Amino acid sequence: MDGEPSDRDLSRVEPQGARVHDDQMHLIIEASPSAMILVDGAGRIVLVNSEAERSFGYTREELLRMNVDALVPASARDSHVHARENYLVHPSRRGMGVGRELYGVRKDGTELPIEIGLNPITIDDEPHVLASIIDITERRRGQAEADAQRQAQQLRTILATLPLSVIATDLTGRIVTANPAAEELVGYRQEELVGSSLTAIDAERRRGVEVDVPVLRDTGTAVEWSYRRKDGRVVPVSEEVVVLKDDDGTPTGYLVVAFDITQRIEAREAVDHILHHDQLTDLPNRTQLVEKLDVAMDRARHEGTEVALLLLDLDHFNRINDTLGHHIGDELLLAVADRLRSWVRGSDLVARLGGDEFAIVMDDLTPGTDLSGRISGMLASLLAPIQVQGYDVVVTASIGGTTFPGDGESPATLLRHADVAMYRAKASGRDSLAWFDAAMVEEVNEKLALSGALRNALAHGELAVVYQPQFDLVEGRLIGFEALARWHSAELGTVSPDRFIPVAEDSGLIVELGEWVLRTACADIAVLQRAVKVPLRLAVNASPRQLHGGGWVEQVSSALADSGLEPWQLGIEITEGILLEDNGVAVASLQELRSIGVQVIVDDFGCGYSSLAYLTRFPIDKIKIDRSFVAPIGSVDDDAAVVDAIIGMAHALGMVVVAEGVETEAQEAYLRSHGCDQVQGYRYGKGVPLGDAARIPHSLEPVPSTPQTLGA
Ligand code: C2E
Ligand code: CA
Ligand code: CA
Repeated sequence: MDGEPSDRDLSRVEPQGARVHDDQMHLIIEASPSAMILVDGAGRIVLVNSEAERSFGYTREELLRMNVDALVPASARDSHVHARENYLVHPSRRGMGVGRELYGVRKDGTELPIEIGLNPITIDDEPHVLASIIDITERRRGQAEADAQRQAQQLRTILATLPLSVIATDLTGRIVTANPAAEELVGYRQEELVGSSLTAIDAERRRGVEVDVPVLRDTGTAVEWSYRRKDGRVVPVSEEVVVLKDDDGTPTGYLVVAFDITQRIEAREAVDHILHHDQLTDLPNRTQLVEKLDVAMDRARHEGTEVALLLLDLDHFNRINDTLGHHIGDELLLAVADRLRSWVRGSDLVARLGGDEFAIVMDDLTPGTDLSGRISGMLASLLAPIQVQGYDVVVTASIGGTTFPGDGESPATLLRHADVAMYRAKASGRDSLAWFDAAMVEEVNEKLALSGALRNALAHGELAVVYQPQFDLVEGRLIGFEALARWHSAELGTVSPDRFIPVAEDSGLIVELGEWVLRTACADIAVLQRAVKVPLRLAVNASPRQLHGGGWVEQVSSALADSGLEPWQLGIEITEGILLEDNGVAVASLQELRSIGVQVIVDDFGCGYSSLAYLTRFPIDKIKIDRSFVAPIGSVDDDAAVVDAIIGMAHALGMVVVAEGVETEAQEAYLRSHGCDQVQGYRYGKGVPLGDAARIPHSLEPVPSTPQTLGA
């Protein structure tokens, strides 16, 4: 309000020189369907129509006492005043809001959306503005409704086609609406769902909970859950709950969005199965074994019970795999897996750790339970021949056993100790069980220390080679020597080959050591035969590792070439094990050696596991009868039948026979009379350094039945 004269009305407008008369003006604006307001240059309202009264809620009298600025909301007033003044100066700029969405303010203070059209009019030479104001409240409302309807329709379409189950509930968890995907997911129709509680379809956590507000809470992220369908089937779902709120932020209900994750769960389970099982036998694998051990050990700690861990390794499995083929090897592993499975109790676990290695966990044992008897029974049951593809195969196993508590505090320690025990079982002749004890670890540690010292010995020349003579029994003459390694350690004193050779084999040092012995011996024997002026044979021991590593044949050829020895002068002594546990590589190298003329000798013959007939499959020139068969000859419990058999079969197969460890005259006589070809032993001399080897007589002590032959 602007304090203008109070009773101003149309009749009192002074139309001095007006081009438009009051009456005319009145009629014109009254006819207009919109509110019309005429204002003078200062914004004073000078003329209004009935529609203006109705729109703004003022009476004509009130309006005519007001300034038009009072009809503008306070927030827009400054810019309105500015625009109005501007407009009066430059009417052509029409900056006062034509076509813009503006608001007017009613007498009761409420705002009304308006559109304004402005017309400059000069009345009595004074600039006036005639404003035509259209109330667009109705138009706005219509638009909003149409918008809302369209949005609702869109929402329905989205919900109907969405592959997600969408269920809306009120604050008590009662279902208000559900989309088709929800119907399909839970197997209920919309009508059945609406009005019932969400707990009706929950298969887990919310089940049994009274319908209540805390039943649902805004999860914010998807959680794995499950629903119970109408047909009773449980479906795993991923579910996300969103709190619905009104404009004030007051919660009004929940929106529960879910989808079926059966496939996700199945895929996860399949992966989990793979991660916990051995592919071939489907037995649990190492991962599951460790998990089981963890649980079993925990339980034993609480309940004062015991756990046993057995590590089981099949004997000579490689031999089966290589000779009969991998598919038969696989079938055998499956059969063994079955036997082990049926041997254990329900709560025990049989795992395959890879290759031919299995493990068994037996938990919940009463302290002091004697398992050895049961395990022997299992070993015996393994012995029953397994039929695979027409073959009868017999497998035996070596078992290392540990128990908790006692043998280790963690699954890893128990496993390591079981492994140590298993190697002990293997070493003690296979097909046996060894329980872990702490001394075994000391042995392992000692081996480690020894291997360090041996590495130094190789580098610092502490090793030497000695030569033990071999004689032909028939002709009684010196044939040659076996090279034997010696170690005189500055630190440890003399270390026997029986101690350092296994260490060298385990640590891999044997490859370097073996090559050094080979080159030294070849060179030495070449020197020796030039001195004694007779061709000499040389036998050199070789370990599996040497034959398996590449380059062995090249090493031999180059040692021969460098020394000048002929290939026939050299023999390589190997043990049966090399042949039996070989995967083809060692036999191939032996064959190659033989093809260049080097002899292959089987050492320690008879104490292995094989029959001579089996050995016919391999390239062999000579058999060396083990000392353990020679020693009893002539004694009371003499069982020379084995020696007879070996000599007979070797000869039948065209092999030469040498007996080692010959110490007595009786032994020599027996061997000669039974056709043994050659001898070696303390009776003829121990291993001696090269210098002493030159002084060894070239013939055996005079024997009546054989003419004495002095060196050629
Ligand atoms: P081996 O190859 O069976 O060697 C024969 C062993 O019997 C030697 O023991 C030898 O001194 C011993 N011996 C010989 N005649 C008699 C006898 O009449 N009575 C008795 N009681 N023993 C006799 P050594 O030198 O202690 O060697 C032990 C083992 O160490 C060897 O057994 C062989 O397996 C291994 N070895 C020695 N040198 C080498 C080598 O250079 N390379 C490889 N890989 N192994 C070697
Ligand atoms: Ca030997
Ligand atoms: Ca031997």
